[in-house]
Amino acid sequence: MGIGILTMASRSIKIPPVFKSIRFLLPALCLLLSPSAGFSETRLERAKAFYEIALSSHEQLKATPIDQQTREQFLAVSETYRRVYFTDPSYGNNTLCLMAIGDLRQEMGRRWNVPKDLEVAVAAYEFLVKEYPGSKFRKEALMTAALIYREDLRQQEKALEQYEKYLESFGKSADADKARLAKDEILNELAARKKELEVSSPSLPATNGLIASNTGSLVRILDVRHWDSPDYGRVVIDMEDEVQYEMGSLENPPRVYIDLRNARASSKLVKSPITVDSDLLKSIRVGQFKSDTSRIVMDLKGPADYTLFELPNPQRLVIDIREKSITETAAVIAPPETQPQPASLPNSSEPSASTASVDSASSSARTDGTEKAEGKIAAIPLQNQPVVEPPAPSVAVTRPAQRNSNGAHSLTRALGLKVGRIILDPGHGGHDTGAIGPSGLLEKEVVLDIAKRLGKLLEERLGSEVVHTRIDDTFISLESRPAMANEMHADLFVSIHMNSSANPKANGIETYYLNFTTDPEALEVAARENAVSKEKISQLEGLVQKIAMSEKIDESHEFATHVQKALGQSLAAGKRRRLNRGVKKAPFVVLVGANMPSILAEISFLSNPEEEKQLRTDEQRQKIAESLFAGVLSYAETLGGVEVASRETADTP
Ligand SMILES: [Zn+2]
Repeated sequence: MGIGILTMASRSIKIPPVFKSIRFLLPALCLLLSPSAGFSETRLERAKAFYEIALSSHEQLKATPIDQQTREQFLAVSETYRRVYFTDPSYGNNTLCLMAIGDLRQEMGRRWNVPKDLEVAVAAYEFLVKEYPGSKFRKEALMTAALIYREDLRQQEKALEQYEKYLESFGKSADADKARLAKDEILNELAARKKELEVSSPSLPATNGLIASNTGSLVRILDVRHWDSPDYGRVVIDMEDEVQYEMGSLENPPRVYIDLRNARASSKLVKSPITVDSDLLKSIRVGQFKSDTSRIVMDLKGPADYTLFELPNPQRLVIDIREKSITETAAVIAPPETQPQPASLPNSSEPSASTASVDSASSSARTDGTEKAEGKIAAIPLQNQPVVEPPAPSVAVTRPAQRNSNGAHSLTRALGLKVGRIILDPGHGGHDTGAIGPSGLLEKEVVLDIAKRLGKLLEERLGSEVVHTRIDDTFISLESRPAMANEMHADLFVSIHMNSSANPKANGIETYYLNFTTDPEALEVAARENAVSKEKISQLEGLVQKIAMSEKIDESHEFATHVQKALGQSLAAGKRRRLNRGVKKAPFVVLVGANMPSILAEISFLSNPEEEKQLRTDEQRQKIAESLFAGVLSYAETLGGVEVASRETADTP
């Protein structure tokens, strides 16, 4: 019977370890799919017949539109190739089959985020190298296996072995220098990691270059959220607790990944990749990369820059992805006035003409190699607060008034102001009350009311399109607020808050823009608004310093200056004088990542009994809204058409 022949055949060659587990399935499968059940066929004829089937199914797969290809299809083609060399180990096309298996499994591993497929891929290449020493594919097989070990599986010792084998046989080839360079880099990496392990935890053994888990329970990954616009994406990973992570980028296809150690993704997240399909991001995939490591892969449409920061309570990682080589000059050129778009279709907006021209002028090819950012377990006690699942953000868009209440053309139209769309961000909401006054007035209620009043003024008098980050008592996470503003391509971002102090006499107004500071008072305000400890704020330092390099900071400073001046003129004057505390800078999470001039106004001290009493009145709330409006208008006037045009001339090459 055929079964006997096939079993004999499979035993006559050495089977690499990863193939062994599925070997027992072979005879039955082969019988079902056998091209012919005849007894008289030679093994060679049967192998040839399998090879023909493999080729035609491979062609079919290639002809299938990429979004309709399935992992099962890939698997079927790969299995048919495998049957060829199992049927006749001496068949001439076996090396072609092994290369095809390697390539198919490699693509499967990357597209569906299955490490097992990548392991099968390298096993196929290694098998070829070992069993077919005369094959012309040995060179390519060694190099590809090395790359998979290095970049995908991140098993650096194994990658090193492959590069060494490559150099033994092909030390004088054109790619030998590439292999030598990779080898040196790995040796350096391994040495650095060894040193690090000795310093941080001498008792933990290293396995596969990763730090072994010393705890039985894995941290759960609860959710992955994202916001997207053509040139920007923010991905937030919600977690049960702090984890150690490693982030990096890979090419071909371009992608950014983050490995979370001692972490476990829910099967729902693993099963359903998130299709984004923006101009920047294709999809987000979550996989259990190893038994104790989850990998989140962001598939990109091209090279991109990325930054990452952590936020506690609940624990989350925030990843910002931007088009590579966008110069900061693009950000300071106010985009031309755009047609208002409904909130539900943010992806339909195209990048503004000025931004696009700067992008293409300054885009440059990416260099080879990977970039990595390592995260460390913070030396802070584990937090046991309940995890709050953030609800879907509620956004309200109001259509701009083309004419104001007097029937005149809006100021935006009359002056050609470049503030078509303004995001108003009343702080806090839901379970997050913000500051609480001595008689119980809540910050979240007052700032919501003032934001609504301000929004009305901006629509009526300026003809701007106003978007509120919340219009009711809903909790909205800090990181989602600037992400929303970016997604909607807003021109200005105004976050409205109220101050609080242990000193009941503290009073006055201050306006903040994003920057790092050593001022303890400003840090205290930021710590409170960020809902983190002052110690945690220092973790934002590196990120904020990077942002501070950009000219965007200057725009925000300018914006803050206009708003603070208007607030000061109105509120710091008269009988009940409030202290004009000036423009300040601090690392506010709600301002991190915003692409437009953005400020945070602390409009009063709710902890001051007199200010609290005033804030209960309509008059005071309207007065504050009017002052904020005056500040926005004053800044908007500086963005008139003439000045923007001259800036474009100066900044665009
Ligand atoms: Zn606040």
